[in-house]
Amino acid sequence: MKIDLTGHTTVITGGSSGIGLAAAKLFLEAGANVAICGRDKKRLDDAVDLLPAGSKIATVCDVLDKDSVTSFAAQVASEFGGTDTLINNAGQARVSKYEDTSEEDWREELDLKFFSILNPTKAFQPYLEESSNAAIVCTSSLIARQPEPHLVATSAARAGQLSLIHSMARELAPKNIRVNSILIGVVESAQWRRRYDALPDNKPNYDDWLKEQALAKGIPLGRFGKPEEAAQALFFLGTPLSSYTTGSTIDLSGGLSRHVG
Ligand code: NDP
Repeated sequence: MKIDLTGHTTVITGGSSGIGLAAAKLFLEAGANVAICGRDKKRLDDAVDLLPAGSKIATVCDVLDKDSVTSFAAQVASEFGGTDTLINNAGQARVSKYEDTSEEDWREELDLKFFSILNPTKAFQPYLEESSNAAIVCTSSLIARQPEPHLVATSAARAGQLSLIHSMARELAPKNIRVNSILIGVVESAQWRRRYDALPDNKPNYDDWLKEQALAKGIPLGRFGKPEEAAQALFFLGTPLSSYTTGSTIDLSGGLSRHVG
């Protein structure tokens, strides 16, 4: 099946790397206009070089800076005429246990997980309300439902975030804006590369280390997910392919999820 998204505009926060960048490729290949943002200009420039031809914007914007997000939304509206899909993807995890997470760490993590969704959603909502195919998709994590002690603050924040996403789905449904999320287990991306780079020198090569990590985590499919696999789920939830789905999640954990339902 081929879907034609000519005239459709997709905004992807954190689109300069990993899952967001893979999603930007898919939407461009389907003919959509694509706007990505991130904090680092060089990373955004490099990302643009990796993207296929098409109508695209790459803007420096920290999703935690409300004014910057509002300007980004205005820029997208002025260049593309509106927004149809918003993918709230920007962010990263915080590795820490209960004993070593400071009050400041807690506040930062809660701020990131909530306002990385609230700021872009508020800024883009007026444009989404004008769309006949409006969708918001959030990149979230399996730990929202299955907390990990070494990610204590991120797990708690993701659980609250999932609750927020479900509430938004109910509230925005009468405005014909669908709101869904994907729950990632582990997907190979810059986050994991950074964790590998921080290890001491006597380490295995990167691919072997990834395999060891997958084994240690007991991922039933025996490997990390690829950014492209997560991007396909974002694409499904962000387009009319999922026109009757809201308040839902797609699991991308290679079988790590142990709960029923
Ligand atoms: P990457 O580090 O590859 O990509 C993260 C992207 O977010 C980058 O473009 C980064 O650019 C951007 N970003 C981070 N903070 C901000 C900010 N405050 N404002 C704007 N942009 C920001 O990681 P992934 O692709 O893996 O991560 C995508 C999402 O998936 C994240 O929310 C992550 O927490 C989530 N996730 C990933 C998992 C995994 O295993 N990979 C597991 C569970 C969830 P820059 O740094 O230049 O701002």
